[in-house]
Amino acid sequence: MARVLNFNPGPAALPLSALERAQNELIDFQGTGMSVMEHSHRGKDFEAVHNAAIASMRELLGISDDYHVLFLQGGASQQFAVVPMNLLPQGRSADYILTGAWGKKAYDEAKNVGTVRVAATVEENKTYVRVPAQSELKLDPEAAYVHLTSNETIHGVQFHNYPDTGKVPLVADMSSDFMWRKFDVSRFGLIYAGAQKNIGPSGITVVIVRKDLVDGARKDIPKIFRYGTHAENNSLYNTPPTFGIYLIRNVMDWIKQSGGLGQIEAWNREKAALVYACLDELSGFYRAPVKAPARSVMNIVFRLPTEELEAKFIADAKKAGMVGLKGHRSVGGIRVSSYNAMTVDGIRQLVSFMKDFAKTNG
Ligand SMILES: *Cc1c(COP(=O)(O)O)cnc(C)c1O
Repeated sequence: MARVLNFNPGPAALPLSALERAQNELIDFQGTGMSVMEHSHRGKDFEAVHNAAIASMRELLGISDDYHVLFLQGGASQQFAVVPMNLLPQGRSADYILTGAWGKKAYDEAKNVGTVRVAATVEENKTYVRVPAQSELKLDPEAAYVHLTSNETIHGVQFHNYPDTGKVPLVADMSSDFMWRKFDVSRFGLIYAGAQKNIGPSGITVVIVRKDLVDGARKDIPKIFRYGTHAENNSLYNTPPTFGIYLIRNVMDWIKQSGGLGQIEAWNREKAALVYACLDELSGFYRAPVKAPARSVMNIVFRLPTEELEAKFIADAKKAGMVGLKGHRSVGGIRVSSYNAMTVDGIRQLVSFMKDFAKTNG
């Protein structure tokens, strides 16, 4: 079997054991004579999978009963609109903190729904290399919510401490760093994350939302976009992406079998430290633009001396069995996406390749 080292930014690598379990169960799911994909979403067999995925997520993150956990469709991009549709009533305004391209997209989409303000932007020379300090935030104490992007997947900029927004609910797009570690869910009013980076395949967006925000949300929007609709129906209002939810169940079980989110965090920190140490050691050749306190543990971006060398780096890496290293087309360069499923050993192989490449081409 020839599995490559997959550094894709999303859809991204999945844990091998979660895939193998799906393979083993594919044709005949638990003696039912059909695959999980062929089961009714209303039947007890799928319902058990669905509830296990939610229960494991609640357990691993320590999510209290004050929150709903929803599995929705439409990607994080749909949440860019659905968050303000639900939480931004007429006559109110919402604050956005911009630390990269995704936050900017969320802000631009929210403008189509209601009144929004920029509470802070760190854009400089058309790029983003840091997160704002608390003192830089111009927060509106009357805002309906404050939105941030916990990890900017394209620019490799990550919040390592979340800002204090007082009584105003904090809303976070955690698509590319959801469940890379345990964090305090109670600091947030709402969290959303496309599954395809860290916890499953594409097609599902996890939304964790405080129940009082759902109760107070706008009702003058189509039913399908109301958080309340999905909360009342345990995310089974309409047919959900059943196979994707099944795979999330497998990934949750893999996290548990690995020792929980504490172990996952330790691996992620070790992997990021290995790559950044290499970049710092070889800073005459590799250039990491993001300021150290905001360096992402998940998406590590860097440049080489020329675009020709970057193209050669990507081509040589591919020959060595490493794929998905090309930076986003809007920024260029190299991006190492090191999500939960990437192993420490995989990163060691990459770092060894990076050292050899610098020696040969530097
Ligand atoms: C990938 C990504 C998105 C977009 O997700 P879709 O599922 O394609 O809508 C939004 N925000 C962040 C931070 C992302 O990494």
